[in-house]
Amino acid sequence: MLTPSISVNYLQKEINMLQFNEIIYGPMHSRRLGNSLGVNLLPIDAKICTFNCIYCECGFNTTMKKFPMPRRAAVKSALNEKLQALCAENQMIDVITFAGNGEPTLHPQFREIIDDAIELRNKYFPETKICVLTNSTQISKKEVFDALMKADNAILKFDSAIDETMRQIDRPARRDFSVAWLLENLQHFENRLIVQTMFLRGTHNGQTVDNTTKTEISAYINAMQILKPQQVMIYGIDRQTPVKSLHKIPREELEKIAEQIRKSGIEVNVAG
Ligand code: SF4
Repeated sequence: MLTPSISVNYLQKEINMLQFNEIIYGPMHSRRLGNSLGVNLLPIDAKICTFNCIYCECGFNTTMKKFPMPRRAAVKSALNEKLQALCAENQMIDVITFAGNGEPTLHPQFREIIDDAIELRNKYFPETKICVLTNSTQISKKEVFDALMKADNAILKFDSAIDETMRQIDRPARRDFSVAWLLENLQHFENRLIVQTMFLRGTHNGQTVDNTTKTEISAYINAMQILKPQQVMIYGIDRQTPVKSLHKIPREELEKIAEQIRKSGIEVNVAG
């Protein structure tokens, strides 16, 4: 859960979705990552992503294209200032997390910004991890792949092993985006691969959406057996979603799914 009392500055939009109005936000407690300082490489007043997930806590994508992304120098300066202040206050952070208002790897200088973050992390908090939450759509680009491999943890989205369900949940911008493409490209991360999966049930546009059925879990486990990730992070809805007819999967059910995945020898982390 967010803990808004600690220097978190964000906008609650009219539909109560979460968007970050700064380049650097937090630190805040993350269910999956611990005490996390966030970096938002997307515009501060818009959400831009190559997916448009029905559960996205930032809401649906912004359609107008006038919003600029922050420049590399501005990101470095803001991160330097924040890390310097946290260091002076003796405040520890577990992780510097690239996430924010959409897909961070869309930033044209993503690779250089990761280099800057590593330099600043080494200067102020050498024990802190650099983590990127990504939807996996840009990983076939060499510069993005190289940058993700430099991060301590690249956490890559894989919400269903069945195309129809993946399209229902993630709503990729590219019509040819497919599970087969994902499986092929995620394998390049080899033993560095960390997969993140949102499990949910509900309806959208009159259709049932459910990636927790027996068929779904069986296909998912088959996919994980191919990918052999270092770790799988599974989680349920925690905040407001733009589609209101979605249901949170109870923690006990997530644990049961996790148990099934663990039988393949894969480490699973559950955030309920
Ligand atoms: S990939 Fe992430 S940022 Fe993009 S729409 Fe989905 S949840 Fe939102």
